[in-house]
Amino acid sequence: MSGHAWKVMVGKLYQSARHILEAGSDAVLLLLAPQVCRQCGAWVERQADGTACRACWEAWFAEQSRYRPGCHRCGRWVAADATMVQPQKQCAQCANWSLTWARSGGVYTGALRTALLTLKHTPRLPTPLVQRLHATWHEQSVLHTSDILVPIPLAPRRERARGYNQAVRLAEAVAQVARRPVVTEAVARVIETYPHRAGLDARARRQALEGAFRVIRPRLIANRRVLLVDDVLTSGVTLDTAARALLAAGAAEVSALTAARTLRHTSLA
Ligand SMILES: [Zn+2]
Ligand SMILES: [Zn+2]
Repeated sequence: MSGHAWKVMVGKLYQSARHILEAGSDAVLLLLAPQVCRQCGAWVERQADGTACRACWEAWFAEQSRYRPGCHRCGRWVAADATMVQPQKQCAQCANWSLTWARSGGVYTGALRTALLTLKHTPRLPTPLVQRLHATWHEQSVLHTSDILVPIPLAPRRERARGYNQAVRLAEAVAQVARRPVVTEAVARVIETYPHRAGLDARARRQALEGAFRVIRPRLIANRRVLLVDDVLTSGVTLDTAARALLAAGAAEVSALTAARTLRHTSLA
């Protein structure tokens, strides 16, 4: 056997062994530490899928074809069969934003919602979520002008309790394809307000967040085009408040990328 053929054979053997081991570890995991799908209650057969099963992920991916962006600026979702011909240039939700663009990986439902809720206590990103983030980066060229990725900070007390910030994990996943630095030292969250949990209306939310973010190292963002990264965009007030702080401190432009966007603040025209 020639040296080359030998190498090819060893390579193939190695690949098969790896596949068997990977499949095997899933089987072992299913046996020793079974994970129930938080969405439907079935067994999760692949570790890489996290806390949602394959069928639920597939259902979520299929569901995305029911929506399309209704607004070019903020990317809010509208029903795919909406009568509107072209996306609006901007809409009532984003007209007063300081954010230049906002984009998200998909709607905050099903397996993606499950994955993002799990990410609040388990700092491991399921593969379908990472794939969706990567695809969103590639598809959304308006985000490509950014120079740096800035995860939305948690209040220090909350981050200490959790041990990590899930927005940092998401930004690191985006950085794998965006190849831009993840800057975590520039902005701090100085007021611990999470307005959506408090059930406030839009104006009260904005007031509650006033001054919540402080740029502590302005030189890290001065004249930079910043892409904020977070898990979910609901009304956009949190991201926009952070954007205002960054712009006031000298950032050239601020846009946002979130893993998901709720349908709650979306008019399904
Ligand atoms: Zn399921
Ligand atoms: Zn809009």
